[in-house]
Amino acid sequence: MSDSHFDTVAIVGIGLIGSSLARAVARGKLAGRIVIADSDVVALAEAERLGLGQAYESDVADAARDADLVVLCVPVGAMETVGKAMAPVLKPGAIVSDVGSVKASVLKALSATLPAHAHIIPGHPVAGTEKSGPGAGFASLFDGRWCILTPPEGADAAAVAKLKGFWAAIGAEVEMMDAAHHDLVLAITSHVPHLIAYNIVGTASDLETVTDSEVIKYSAGGFRDFTRIAASDPTMWRDVFLNNKEAVLEMLGRFTEDLTALQRAIRWGDGDALFELFSRTREIRRRIIDAGQDSAAPDFGRPHEE
Ligand code: NAP
Repeated sequence: MSDSHFDTVAIVGIGLIGSSLARAVARGKLAGRIVIADSDVVALAEAERLGLGQAYESDVADAARDADLVVLCVPVGAMETVGKAMAPVLKPGAIVSDVGSVKASVLKALSATLPAHAHIIPGHPVAGTEKSGPGAGFASLFDGRWCILTPPEGADAAAVAKLKGFWAAIGAEVEMMDAAHHDLVLAITSHVPHLIAYNIVGTASDLETVTDSEVIKYSAGGFRDFTRIAASDPTMWRDVFLNNKEAVLEMLGRFTEDLTALQRAIRWGDGDALFELFSRTREIRRRIIDAGQDSAAPDFGRPHEE
């Protein structure tokens, strides 16, 4: 049995990320048995129809009872409820991880609810699309993408190594980080960009002198890419902002200062300032492509998202 293999893996929440994980685990033969739990009976029935696991439970405790690894794939705001529900049944030595987009609040919620005999190792695969539900997932979602693990101080080294091996076998590049640092990094690379997308699409839809049909008709001019991001799951993103408040507000403060400087450059006709910034940002884009984090192809090389 390889180091990355678990006898029973429970996946709680079988949406985009949970169903992608179930598919990737099955593809890599990384579990003897996959048990799936979801509070949404429609999602659970769809998971069963798609054959994503070997057992399907509407009660989280029933799914977690025999699990060697439990991965919580529910919105960040639901982690505490799920933690409480499975706490009484967890096996000694079971690893409990998650895929939530915020880490410090998840670590706090799980530490407060789970028994000491469970190994809590939060995680965040930095991969996704704007789609939701079991049908939206695909096995290759995590291939070559980062998975950040944020084990708390004093976490069991063998359990951390095993979870690291599991994500590596799935195809991800694993990185270790402190939970608070993760939240700061993701605030600027993911959370604030989503807020900007939600805001610009909201502003456009409120304009009275530009009609809705014009917004849709001429959307190719940059706006279209924002609408893709702004189509992301409302529950998930509400929970991200409520649970990463400090880091998002800190980054938004900096963003607002820089936006004011840009406004001033436009007002004063300072073309050099605009040109200097746009050249610097173009360079960042080139480095992201060189690092293999995106493709230079049209539509960002993401055919599955269209
Ligand atoms: P999703 O497609 O909406 O799936 C979440 C599933 O969890 C839904 O079926 C939901 O049911 C279920 N659920 C909610 N509360 C539950 C509870 N208390 N007990 C059991 N099941 C529950 O969401 P997702 O996009 O996969 O996101 C899941 C997690 O992954 C989130 O924490 C998110 O931050 C993280 N993440 C997402 C992305 C992304 O791009 N989407 C990327 C990386 C990480 P209902 O429909 O009834 O609510």
